[in-house]
Amino acid sequence: MPLDLNYTNQQKVFREDVRKWMEANVPRQRLKTLECREGFEQHREWERVLQSGDWGMVTWPKAYGGRGCDLIEWLIFEEEYYRVDAPLRVSQNGIFLLGPTLMEYGTPEQKARFLPAMAAGDEIWAQAWSEPNAGSDMAAIRTKAVRDGDEYVISGQKIWSSRAVFADWCFTLVRTDPDSRRHKGLSMILLPLDSSGLTIRPIAQLDGNPGFAELFFDEVRVPVSNLLGPENGGWGVAMATAGFERGLMLRSPARFQRTAARLLELYRQRGDRASPGVRDRVLQAWLDAEAYCLSTYQTASKIMAGGSIGAEASCNKIFWSELDREMHRLGMLLCGDSAELTGESGRALDEGRWLDGYMFSLAGPIYAGTNEIQRNIIAERLLGMPRG
Ligand SMILES: Cc1cc2nc3c(=O)[nH]c(=O)nc-3n(C[C@H](O)[C@H](O)[C@H](O)COP(=O)(O)OP(=O)(O)OC[C@H]3O[C@@H](n4cnc5c(N)ncnc54)[C@H](O)[C@@H]3O)c2cc1C
Repeated sequence: MPLDLNYTNQQKVFREDVRKWMEANVPRQRLKTLECREGFEQHREWERVLQSGDWGMVTWPKAYGGRGCDLIEWLIFEEEYYRVDAPLRVSQNGIFLLGPTLMEYGTPEQKARFLPAMAAGDEIWAQAWSEPNAGSDMAAIRTKAVRDGDEYVISGQKIWSSRAVFADWCFTLVRTDPDSRRHKGLSMILLPLDSSGLTIRPIAQLDGNPGFAELFFDEVRVPVSNLLGPENGGWGVAMATAGFERGLMLRSPARFQRTAARLLELYRQRGDRASPGVRDRVLQAWLDAEAYCLSTYQTASKIMAGGSIGAEASCNKIFWSELDREMHRLGMLLCGDSAELTGESGRALDEGRWLDGYMFSLAGPIYAGTNEIQRNIIAERLLGMPRG
């Protein structure tokens, strides 16, 4: 499909508006990591500042706290956002995953209740799907919810829930039909994280911060009105959420273009000490970030013309996660003997961003569905190969 790479006047004005606002409002000092309590609250405050300027979630309808922007404007917004190194989005599970799912499956009451508070950063969401024996194989979920009058009573265990130690609510996938197997009989339920009977135990990440949590449900009661989508139809709801996660929004190209630009700058400063071959890898990474950007503009145009993204989302997920890891590996190489200094040391290059980014990039091929699972999807659905 033809792709017009020229911005309209309206898009140029929009870019100018975002740029001016970001330059005036982005925090001057780097916030603490959002994987610790203090940093989490700093990032929540930033979400509130963003929303005060109407930039909380630009693609959402105005009625829910958005600006009603289209996908091209969203890409422009992201480019300006990362250009000034604005903070990571602590509300990402809500605004990028649950928000669009609520718009598709939520009742009018649920949309009115949850979306504005999500856009404003007043309620931050965690995703509670994975279980100790149900990660890649999510259909093996065993946490159960038993109907008791107007309530569900939930018992079981979830794991790897990002920032659930600090967040306010979670969306969880549980088995509501006790006789069901695999994908059938699951439901998506919205649940406050301060519910009675819920124990949240932090798990330290590679950097020592309590970014993950295990959730233990001991007869936790939730009103039936917190069911999202059909009872026992949660698999379809979850697949829509996963589609948003692997699709366009979770990782916009601007994030990787910004890393590529920083990498190029690092190479200019320190490339003379690098081993042969690093130059070509830096160049390739920069080209890949540009290619991912062009490909995303094309996908956005396709979606705006009524198309859909489908299993190509799996190609994107593999591409950006491997690119991110490669760029941070190169960054670590170029940092040389200061690579392992943390930001707190006061002596790290680029305030320790390369080390932080490197550790996080290692998780890219795992979260949002592992890259092995994405390769299975590509093999079966895009290439028509037999199931392995
Ligand atoms: C940074 C990060 C954040 C996360 N945040 C959340 C969160 O907020 N909420 C949440 O619910 N979960 C979260 N997760 C968990 C994540 O979704 C799971 O780790 C992931 O789905 C893999 O599940 P698992 O860890 O149980 O590994 P397993 O499913 O046990 O997989 C182990 C290995 O086997 C491979 N494998 C498994 N099955 C197949 C197959 N059929 N074919 C080929 N290879 C296979 C996998 O690719 C992997 O390499 C997060 C994970 C990370 C790393």
